[in-house]
Amino acid sequence: MKEWTRSDTLALASNRCTSCHGLGLVFGKRGKSNPCNCVLRAIFRACYARFRYCVEKEKYMSKVSLQFTRGTDRRLTWGRKDEEYIADFILVSRRSLTPTEYKVFKYHFLLGADWKLCSRKFGLSRGNFFHMVYRIMHKLGRVFHELEPYSLYPLREYFSTTVRGVKPVSRPLPPQTPDRVPVRPWRRAA
Ligand SMILES: [Zn+2]
Repeated sequence: MKEWTRSDTLALASNRCTSCHGLGLVFGKRGKSNPCNCVLRAIFRACYARFRYCVEKEKYMSKVSLQFTRGTDRRLTWGRKDEEYIADFILVSRRSLTPTEYKVFKYHFLLGADWKLCSRKFGLSRGNFFHMVYRIMHKLGRVFHELEPYSLYPLREYFSTTVRGVKPVSRPLPPQTPDRVPVRPWRRAA
C-alpha cells in the first residue's frame, strides 16, 4: 500500500480546507497519515480534466502518435497514449466503484448529466446526489494515485511511460520542472 507523504499532498491541498489546513494530510489512529479529502478531489479533478482533454483531442487528431521509449537504445514505438488513458480512466473507475456509484459516475462525469437529471434518474435528493459525487471523487482520487504498477496520477509520469505491452525498459525520468511545490517547513500565517 502506497504511503502518502506531505510532498504528495502539499501542493494539492486547499488552503481553506478546515480538515487539513492546507497540509493535505490528516492523521488517523496510531498516527497513520491519510490524504485529506481535498487532496483526493484535486487528484480526481486533474485526472478528469485530462480525460476530457484526451476525448476532445481524439475527435480531431490522428489516434496514433509517435513516442520514444526511453532507454539506452531509444527505440521508437507507435503509441496510443491518449487512447490508453481514456480506457484506463474508465476501466479503473468501473472496477473501483460500486455498481450504483458507477452508474452515477457514468451519467454525471462521462455523459455530462447535471444534478437535476441525475436526481430524477436515480431518485436521489440534491443533497444525496452531491454526497455520492463527493464519495466517488474521494474513492477515485485515491485509486488514481495508489494504483500499481502504473498509477494514473501524477499525470506527467503516466504520460512519460511507454505504452502497455511494450517492455518498460529502464527509463530515467527526464529532467523536468516539478508540478509539485518542493517540501518546505509549513508555517501558519502570522
Ligand atoms: Zn484538506
